[in-house]
Amino acid sequence: MFIGDSMTEIEKKIEDLRKTLRYHSDRYYNDDAPEIEDYEYDMMMRELKNLEEKYPEYDTPDSPTKKVGGKADNSFASVEHTVRMESLQDAFSKDELREFDNRVRDSVKNVHYVVEPKIDGLSVSLEYRDGVFFRGSTRGNGDVGEDVSGNLRVIHNIPLKLNKPIPYIEVRGEVYMPKKSFEKVVDRQLLNGEKPFKNPRNAAAGSLRQKDSSVAATRGLDIFVFNIQQIEGVELTSHKQSLDFIKELGFHTIPTYKKVDNIDDAINEIDRIGEARGSLEYDIDGAVIKVDDFSQREQLGSTAKYPKWAIAFKYPPEEKQTVLRDIEIAVGRTGVLTPTAILDSVHLAGTTVSRATLHNQDFINEKGIGIGDIVTVRKAGDIIPEVLCVNEHNAKSVFKFPDVCPSCGEKVYRDEDEAAIRCINPECPAQLLRNLIHFCSRDAMDIEGLGPAIIETFVNEGMINKTYDIYNLDPEKIASLEGFKETSAKNIINSVNNSKKNDLSKLIFALGIRHIGAKAGKLLADKFKNIDAIMNASVDDILEIDGYGAVMAQSVVEFFESDSSKELIEKLKEAGVNMVSTNVIKDNRFEGMTFVLTGTLPTLKRSEASKMIESFGGKTSSSVSKKTTYVLAGEEAGSKLDKANKLGIEVINEEQFKEMIK
Ligand code: NAD
Repeated sequence: MFIGDSMTEIEKKIEDLRKTLRYHSDRYYNDDAPEIEDYEYDMMMRELKNLEEKYPEYDTPDSPTKKVGGKADNSFASVEHTVRMESLQDAFSKDELREFDNRVRDSVKNVHYVVEPKIDGLSVSLEYRDGVFFRGSTRGNGDVGEDVSGNLRVIHNIPLKLNKPIPYIEVRGEVYMPKKSFEKVVDRQLLNGEKPFKNPRNAAAGSLRQKDSSVAATRGLDIFVFNIQQIEGVELTSHKQSLDFIKELGFHTIPTYKKVDNIDDAINEIDRIGEARGSLEYDIDGAVIKVDDFSQREQLGSTAKYPKWAIAFKYPPEEKQTVLRDIEIAVGRTGVLTPTAILDSVHLAGTTVSRATLHNQDFINEKGIGIGDIVTVRKAGDIIPEVLCVNEHNAKSVFKFPDVCPSCGEKVYRDEDEAAIRCINPECPAQLLRNLIHFCSRDAMDIEGLGPAIIETFVNEGMINKTYDIYNLDPEKIASLEGFKETSAKNIINSVNNSKKNDLSKLIFALGIRHIGAKAGKLLADKFKNIDAIMNASVDDILEIDGYGAVMAQSVVEFFESDSSKELIEKLKEAGVNMVSTNVIKDNRFEGMTFVLTGTLPTLKRSEASKMIESFGGKTSSSVSKKTTYVLAGEEAGSKLDKANKLGIEVINEEQFKEMIK
């Protein structure tokens, strides 16, 4: 009875671990957005492996411990790997490496190892016929991967033609994103308001699986080749020899590979790589020990998941105690205030650490962090170290964020549903560039010629310090800049001047008020007709607009309360920017009606039909509900049409619609 009960508990524990590991594997491999640290994942995997070994009756062949993580997405053609792309067994201590050595030497004599850094990227196969690249694929589940040849071709260090025309060769390498490229990519993502990649590994994986290879080409990817999977027409007998050979062929081979005679020397090399780790231009998450001789490898064989002749040593996250001297608050380009701990320097994972992220106020509260505390700092191979916990609380109180933005001094706000505290001042210098890019973009003020790169130049040249400076640009100064001529300067000034005539709705959107997109900007302009009325509106006034909720209304009011916003509007007015709604509705025949458009209309584009509906005072919505008045359906209308029929909503075609607007 007792045994039965406890076994059930173990079975449940095993199942829970498998479920959790599968969930995180999915986030990591398929979404390129891990939610936990690799170390945490590895420890869970380790726990599961130990339990399965201890209780073999609960072991199953489909357990994550026996499967190579990742899948072949069907949006790419699939490639069957003739030589399986295996994973690696891992070790977290030197003892485990010695056990590995014992296992190897039990089977084969006179072993030599090769030790290499383990690059933190994603595994790919590259195939060449007669020395010409013809196909490249991801590891996928080890047996079937994705054909990403197009994206691999644009990686500068992948040779399209080899130095020798050998009949056939397949090599395996790790595509990675150098730290410098990663910083640039993240910078660009933040500027465009996109969710940034978490680390270079995920950035590399996300970039390699882009549908459009011109995107991958801008990501600065690189590769290290570390293995020959198959070769025809050349005889090779050892790993070291094959790495030397592929180097001659023109491959960007793994940066160091040292042949050693025993496990002690292998461990010394692992320590050396570990020490250098922080100063490398790319991330490594360990070092790999491999048996050198190919015939010995054959004798040792493989399990379902990994070869028995290799092992990856994963450097444990290093932790150290230090004093937290200060907390610095920086304002990001999206206005979010981020706290950084300033620490007494400590040496961690090969680098000197004197700063660590504190994430947000919730994190600080949860850990009870204050200035002067002794804290534990951890660096898990990732670029940014973090404060793990407080060891000795010396501060009088837990650190509190300031009420005002450290960059512009305006009041900061915290969203109810977010941990972030944010500065919403459109003129905050820290956010200037991002706000300017948005202001000039197509759906906003649509200032042709003022793209991100040119805006950045003007900001760097001190020609734009505030948004309204766009309207005071000096054509002579522009023409004097490198890369500009009189005509290009004139064109810019013309588009700036043209933008002054824009409808108020475009200006509202351009202001970058949080939660207010192009459509909400239009609703606001339609309701209040001019900027002064909007600035004087209360939350309740704004809530009268159908489509506005409390969060949006509050956001508008908070925005116009700020002195900087008031100044910006004043200056834009002075510059002659239009402040009234030009969308004066003369014919209100669709007032109070909501249309949903679905399918392809015979002659009208959906955007044209929407415009017509709105010009007659009607509204459009993207989903069918009881409030829908008409569903305007074209060919291949899908679920929206079904829903309309179910709810008994009148469905009209283009001809009937045209009749209505005659
Ligand atoms: P692995 O990354 O530990 O080892 C195998 C891989 O190492 C191979 O695919 C190979 O491409 C690569 N590699 C790099 N340099 C190499 C070299 N010099 N020689 C040989 N191989 C080299 O194993 P895995 O099965 O690919 O993935 C597991 C990893 O992914 C773990 O580090 C794990 O922490 C991480 N992971 C993390 C999460 C998460 O949520 N954080 C989820 C799933 C997996």
